[in-house]
Formats: sequence, C-alpha cells, structure tokens
Amino acid sequence: MATTTVTPTLTPEERAAMIDAVRDFADTELAPHALEWDQTKHFPRETLRKAGELGLGGIYVREDGGGSGLARRDAVAIFEELAKGDPAIAAYITIHNMVAWMIDTYGSDAQRAQWLPTLTTMDDLGAYCLTEPGAGSDAAAIATSAIPVSDEHGDGYVLTGVKQFISGGGEASVYVVMARTSAEGARGITAFLVPDGTPGLSFGPNEKKMGWNAQPTRQVVLDAVRVPASAMLGGIGQGFKIAMTGLNGGRLNIAACSLGGAQWALDRALRYVHERFTFGEPLAEKQAVVFALADMATELQAARALVRDAAIALDEQRPDAAAQCAMAKRFATDAGFRVANEALQLHGGYGYLQEYGIEKVVRDLRVHQILEGTNEIMRVIIGRDLLERARG
Ligand SMILES: Cc1cc2nc3c(=O)[nH]c(=O)nc-3n(C[C@H](O)[C@H](O)[C@H](O)COP(=O)(O)OP(=O)(O)OC[C@H]3O[C@@H](n4cnc5c(N)ncnc54)[C@H](O)[C@@H]3O)c2cc1C
Repeated sequence: MATTTVTPTLTPEERAAMIDAVRDFADTELAPHALEWDQTKHFPRETLRKAGELGLGGIYVREDGGGSGLARRDAVAIFEELAKGDPAIAAYITIHNMVAWMIDTYGSDAQRAQWLPTLTTMDDLGAYCLTEPGAGSDAAAIATSAIPVSDEHGDGYVLTGVKQFISGGGEASVYVVMARTSAEGARGITAFLVPDGTPGLSFGPNEKKMGWNAQPTRQVVLDAVRVPASAMLGGIGQGFKIAMTGLNGGRLNIAACSLGGAQWALDRALRYVHERFTFGEPLAEKQAVVFALADMATELQAARALVRDAAIALDEQRPDAAAQCAMAKRFATDAGFRVANEALQLHGGYGYLQEYGIEKVVRDLRVHQILEGTNEIMRVIIGRDLLERARG
C-alpha cells in the first residue's frame, strides 16, 4: 500500500562512503566494458547481479522489502556515479529500481513477498510497460485491454495489446503492465504484474538503436495473457496514478544519468585540452576553449542543483514535486546532451572515433531527451503547474 513516510537522508559521512563504493563499482565493473557491450549489444546480467549485491537493486525500496531504504536525494547521487561508468547500464538500473519501487509502494504483502527479495538482489529484473505503438506522449490513450474473467480457474483478467519500446523486454522476470479496465481515459487504467513465461506473453526482436545498446528494447506482446485477480497492482483504476508517480522518480533518475555521462565526457575534455597542441600551444591556452569548458561545467552544476532540489521535493512529498521533477529532467537531459556533444567537438576528429568513448556517451544521452516523457511533455507538465498556481 502507498507509503506516506518521508525517508531520512544519509549523513554526509555515510553518503561519502556509499558514493565511494558506487564509484569503485562503476570504475571496475562498468567502465572497462562499456564500449565492448555497446558494440556487441551485450546485456551484462552477471554485472547487474553484482550491482544487486551492492544494494543497487532496490535503492529506495524499504528495508523490510530487502531494499536499501535510501532517499531520492541519495539515489540521484548514486545514479550519477553509475552513469560515469556506463550511462546505458546505469539507465537500465534506474528503470529496474522504478519497478521495484512500484511493487514496494503499491503492492500487496503477497506481491512484495513474491517479488522484492529477488528484484532487490537483481537475480530477477523488472520492466515497465506503458508505451504502445499508438500511445506514447499521450499515455492516457493506451488501448491494451484487461477483461475480467471468472471460471473454474478463479477470478482473473485477460490482457491483450502491444507495448512498444520496453527496456529490459525479453530479459525481465516481471512486467508492470498498464492496461485498460474501462473506457474512462486515465481513470480506466489499471496496473498488473505479469511474470515472464505467462502463456500469451511474447517479445519482438531487440530494436536496433542509436544508443543504449547494452540494454535490450523490445515490443512486449500480450496475446490473451491470463493473470489472476491477485496480479493487480494497487486498486482498479489506479494504474495511471502509479505510472505517473513512478515516472516522477524515473525522470530524476534519468536526469542523474545525463549528469554522470556528461561529467565523464567533460572530464575527458579537460584532460584532452592539455594533451592536444594546435598552432604551437595546447588547446587549454585558448580562451575560446576555456570559455567552452567553463560553460559546460556551469550548465552541469546548475542541472545538478535542480536535480538535487527536485529529489528533495520528492522526498518531502511537496505539492510541486511533479513539476520540479519535470524541470530537472528537461534541463539536465538537455544540458547533459549539449555538454557531451561539446566534449566531442573539443576532441575534433578523435571525438568521432569509437575508441575515445565520447561518441557513445553522446548517443546514449540523446534518448534521455525522449523517454520517461519527452522534453516537450516536460514543458506541458511545468506549464500546466504554473498556470494552475497562477489561478490560485
Ligand atoms: C530506447 C527507449 C526505451 C524506452 N523504454 C521504455 C520503457 O521501458 N517503458 C515504456 O513504457 N516506454 C519506453 N519508451 C518509450 C518512451 O517513453 C516514448 O518513446 C516517449 O514517451 C515518446 O512517445 P512516442 O515515441 O510515441 O512519441 P510521440 O508521443 O509520438 O511524440 C512525437 C513528438 O511529438 C512531440 N509531442 C507529442 N505531444 C506533444 C504535445 N502535446 N506538445 C508538444 N509536443 C508534443 C513529442 O515531444 C515528440 O517530439 C522507451 C523509448 C525508447 C526510445
């Protein structure tokens, strides 16, 4: 059931120790393999299990569910650090955490007991199924149906529809599926937990993408998938609310991954401008280059402050938390992409080569401006909130 407690944050010493551990994980388990995983489209399940051992499978899942019980402001610091090692894997870990949080927050005792122990260790993985071929930004327009049935097998629902662009599709053990239990727009949407292997559940091919190649993106096809009534997550008609509250945190997490990827690229550029000589001097001697670096650092710092403030707003369940998360997502993902792209430019032709790793980060960060709500939809959310407040 939905929790209303405000999670305390870590002490500065605890936070520093945690960030050190995550940095070490990103440096040793992610960064050395990131380029290869991108090129071979390898989804590193063993590495994810190691992330689970570190407590990264349920970062803000409550401790009685096996989670780490951390606050959002701690989670965004963790995701930023992870993304320095590999934005694509860090981003998948954020989606997995969103699913675990949904089950922790809205699940029954039985659902929490069934899924959280293995989701938090990352032995099982989660996927979130909202988008459909005909409904992306307008998520309330989804058409996947959930028809009630009652027969000798008991009470249940039959789910039929297609979910598009599902991260972790084909790899996850549990799919949070948003489906329509009535025709009433957003109020007619209900969430269901669909385990892998349920008859009628199948997957499209792994999509060929610009970035995020180390994690699979597939269609999830529900062809008369029967689930028991106990598979409903939250109450009937609560699905849209669950989807949107989950996405508030999801947006912060993706924003944090943009910060991490872009900070990594900026750090590379800071090193490179000392190494590269043009016209008899290092790039670092040219004021235009220094100004570019200064702007990159400033934008990232501004974005980091917005992400941190929005995370605090979410921790404290402030009424404007959704708008703050949207602002942070819009700003940090735009800034992150710009900074990474500028770091590529500062590397000249070498930035365009795979072996330098910068072009991969640019490709990975591009999608952050599109998913978990496009940055245009972030403006819709922010604008609506502004106008409502002005009306009083
Ligand atoms: C790699 C990847 C992974 C993904 N993972 C998942 C996942 O795990 N689960 C999931 O459910 N979804 C996932 N998505 C889907 C993602 O959330 C959607 O792609 C996104 O919400 C946009 O929907 P759409 O692609 O249908 O674009 P559309 O909604 O068709 O939008 C097209 C364009 O129109 C703009 N637009 C739309 N409406 C408005 C408006 N009112 N005002 C101004 N502009 C507007 C959009 O901003 C966009 O630029 C993923 C997508 C990708 C690419």
